[in-house]
Amino acid sequence: TELPSDKNLENSRRQVLGAAYSFVSPKKPSNPRLIHSSIELAKDLGIEKNELQSKTFLDIFSGAKVYPNTHPYAMAYAGHQFGSWAGQLGDGRAINLFEIEHNNKLWALQLKGAGETPYSRQGDGLAVLRSSIREYLCSEAMYNLGVPTTRALSLILSGDKVLRDMLYDGNSAYEKGAIVCRVSPSFIRFGNFELFASRQDFRNLKKLTDYTIKHFYTHLGKPSKSVYIEFFREVTERTLEMIIHWQRVGFVHGVMNTDNMSILGLTIDYGPYGWLEGFDFSWTPNTTDKQHKRYRFGNQPNIALWNLLQLANALYPLVREAEPFESVLNDYKTTFEKKSLEMMRSKLGLKSKSNIDLQLINTLEDALLAIETDMTIFFRLLSNYKRGAPNDGISIVKDAFYNLEELDENLQSQWNNWFNDYDQRLQQETSSNSERKKSMDLINPKYVLRNYMAQMAIDDADNENYSLINELFNLLKLPYDEQPEMEKWFAKRPEWARHKVGCSM
Ligand code: AMP
Ligand code: MG
Ligand code: MG
Repeated sequence: TELPSDKNLENSRRQVLGAAYSFVSPKKPSNPRLIHSSIELAKDLGIEKNELQSKTFLDIFSGAKVYPNTHPYAMAYAGHQFGSWAGQLGDGRAINLFEIEHNNKLWALQLKGAGETPYSRQGDGLAVLRSSIREYLCSEAMYNLGVPTTRALSLILSGDKVLRDMLYDGNSAYEKGAIVCRVSPSFIRFGNFELFASRQDFRNLKKLTDYTIKHFYTHLGKPSKSVYIEFFREVTERTLEMIIHWQRVGFVHGVMNTDNMSILGLTIDYGPYGWLEGFDFSWTPNTTDKQHKRYRFGNQPNIALWNLLQLANALYPLVREAEPFESVLNDYKTTFEKKSLEMMRSKLGLKSKSNIDLQLINTLEDALLAIETDMTIFFRLLSNYKRGAPNDGISIVKDAFYNLEELDENLQSQWNNWFNDYDQRLQQETSSNSERKKSMDLINPKYVLRNYMAQMAIDDADNENYSLINELFNLLKLPYDEQPEMEKWFAKRPEWARHKVGCSM
């Protein structure tokens, strides 16, 4: 698009009315340096491997230069944060560069941490190295796990210092600044719709919805009231699908505010996320949410529904009938139960259905909660179970227990009972032990980005050693594969990392 002649590249903070975005200029980094880039994603975008090392690539993806004839912009959105209406938010530290069409696919590319925008509020629009490493590694790891997600193309040091509050001591310190290039078909969020609805700007609400349907839900056809409902139904289905994947791999997002919910059902905004180590429905990695634990592991399905209700409220003015929205929302719970059961069956290697499955899963969850058990290791080891030997069960999975001394007589019998039930249930299956193992190992990852792993990569990077970033990036490309030389990452969290959590900003 051409810029209007009165082009306004004003980055200053303000309420932006009647617009979906504002043109902005990325901040020029003082000494950009490429730390890592994704050759695979670059290929999907039509960027050659050797171009990744070029000065042009560094210039464009650090924000030093604007690609000719493109017009970077920041999007306006609003949202509910921790259950409360937060008003205008917007891309406070994200700047959209341009879109790339390649192999009939459209990709939007944006820089995270490239300086202030009208939506930066009290922030500086910058990102620190540690949070950038966490987003870069985790979003690609999620992609390779088969979880719907935004992607990351590059991780670049800005050469600038960024002031941040330290989480624990309340003091501030300077940290290294960095810029990640994020990639997604679209970065539109629930919050974009909420912004216009809250302002009763129905003209733009309709424009945004029609645009979203036209480009990303094309198969729904020409917008109409019934198409808006179908659109909402599909967003609901995709969101639910994403949540099921999170529960499958033990991912806890940590900040499921409506501004962090993608309209395409993609995992977006990797902040204080974490991976379950000990299986625990009440766990959250977000230190600012330790009291209410709104965004805890076990609550993610409910929160997604709550967020979808906010989206329904935002779309309501386009339809002006509540019943069809309610019917979609009412279906969510039953569909979730159904899909969740299917997902858990697949984690247990069950191909057939039996009416005892729900019970079998519930008693497994009870056992997992009764003794601190590493979720990833447990399910991975469980595929080694051989039918007809329930008494071997405990020894097959025992490496998943954090403290074997906890395994007293009561717990042993609880686990033995479970393995007896599991064994009986397996008698109804037709697949062999090795077939079952094969299918389970495609569902239960061997390697995930444990919080301490990301932290080690961050500590090294702080000392200008980037090899661990590369090692983890490569490891997590094949999370379901046996990688014998990488076995050290198939291990429980070390004791030193027990009470350390990730970071937010
Ligand atoms: P988040 O909780 O990370 O999703 O952020 C919520 C809102 O705050 C979003 O609108 C962000 O763009 C904005 N924000 C977060 N960090 C910064 C920052 N350092 N500078 C400017 N805006 C920020
Ligand atoms: Mg956000
Ligand atoms: Mg964020």
